[in-house]
Amino acid sequence: MNQVDLHCHTTASDGVLSPAALVARGAGLGLKVIAITDHDSTDGVAEAMAAGTKYGVVVIPGVEINTDVPGSEVHILGYFVDHADSALNETLLRLRDGRVDRARRMAELLSAMGAPVRFERILELAGDGAVCRPHVARALVEAGHAATFQDAFERYIGRNGPAYVERLKLTPLEACGLIRKARGLPVLAHPVYFDHFGKIKAAFDLDRGLVQLKAAGLVGIEVYYPGYDAIAIEYLLSQARVHGLLVTGGTDFHGIRPNEPDLGDVYVPTKAVRRLREAWDSQKGGTGTYGRLPETGTVG
Ligand SMILES: [Zn+2]
Ligand SMILES: [Zn+2]
Repeated sequence: MNQVDLHCHTTASDGVLSPAALVARGAGLGLKVIAITDHDSTDGVAEAMAAGTKYGVVVIPGVEINTDVPGSEVHILGYFVDHADSALNETLLRLRDGRVDRARRMAELLSAMGAPVRFERILELAGDGAVCRPHVARALVEAGHAATFQDAFERYIGRNGPAYVERLKLTPLEACGLIRKARGLPVLAHPVYFDHFGKIKAAFDLDRGLVQLKAAGLVGIEVYYPGYDAIAIEYLLSQARVHGLLVTGGTDFHGIRPNEPDLGDVYVPTKAVRRLREAWDSQKGGTGTYGRLPETGTVG
């Protein structure tokens, strides 16, 4: 059983479980360490950390910042960020406001093409969290314009869909800087994907890009991720070795799709947590607001 999941979404972004419910679920599944990494929001961190104390789970405060590279998105995780940092939260709020504007424009486009969904309903589905495309997809399914969540993405709001709208974004380098300023550790999320032929692809040239990102403060890359096979993992481990980066992993749990991995379903070496913690201690001097991590040996 895995004891670590370093990539989880709650209702503070587009996850289904509240921060407390997610931590309770993780505890029930035997997890010892959970990082809360909501899109462009740290709003779920405090509740998750309180739940972590209650359920005996170490909760690492985190965030996942959506950034833009030509033709694609790159996600930067930030571990041990100071979730009360006002500069960080102001920028995240601006990114989320961008999401609301984007959702409004998508609703307008959908109406114009004969698949109307109410903007208010999209916001309702987002609740207190950051409004995201999955909320638009759910509204489309509810309104009967799409058969499934995936159908909604394929026909309307996927990157090449007719109702897809770009939104305000940072560059990956800017996101690394932002996380660093909030005393967090930037990590490149899910660096690769597979094309239709099963070939490993990346949103940018990793060999050169990782050099730049490391110079901007990147400390690690996500190596263990749903769908990554032995070849992808070996490739990413070699990138980590070449660039001197730490290795992380997680399920990217949202709780939305019935077939998605549950919390803890992706192998993550427990030493990943120790290494992250050491990196954070060495930059911060060993004091902080995060929950206490287990002593060496109690995990793994
Ligand atoms: Zn992501
Ligand atoms: Zn994610």
